[in-house]
Amino acid sequence: MADCLFCKIIAGEIPGAIVHSSDRIVAFKDINPQAPTHVLVLPRRHIATLNDLTEADDALVGELVRTAAAIAKKNGHAEAGYRTVFNCNADAGQTVFHIHLHLLGGRKLSWPPG
Ligand code: AMP
Ligand code: ZN
Repeated sequence: MADCLFCKIIAGEIPGAIVHSSDRIVAFKDINPQAPTHVLVLPRRHIATLNDLTEADDALVGELVRTAAAIAKKNGHAEAGYRTVFNCNADAGQTVFHIHLHLLGGRKLSWPPG
């Protein structure tokens, strides 16, 4: 999608610190990290919010989650733990409307979130 920041990073039009790239998924470091590891895992295809997912995306969502788990493991967080979060729309604070799974790890994370 033309005006989407994350589509532009995926297309290489804007720089991103890419940590994983596959046929359907890209992951890059969050520009404003909230933990020692803060990676965004997203589909190459533009999907604006979780509300736009269909049954046809079930495998894609599984791949997003398993990719986040693999990156967490690679970064040494599998045993200590980590958090994955999808924000959806205003009340959750979604600011970029191309779905992305936040992976946060490397420090103790409080719960409940703010
Ligand atoms: P959300 O609030 O869930 O939509 O998350 C958007 C995330 O994108 C925030 O954590 C931002 O810090 C991050 N972000 C914004 N611009 C960039 C960028 N150019 N490269 C990497 N991460 C970004
Ligand atoms: Zn997009």
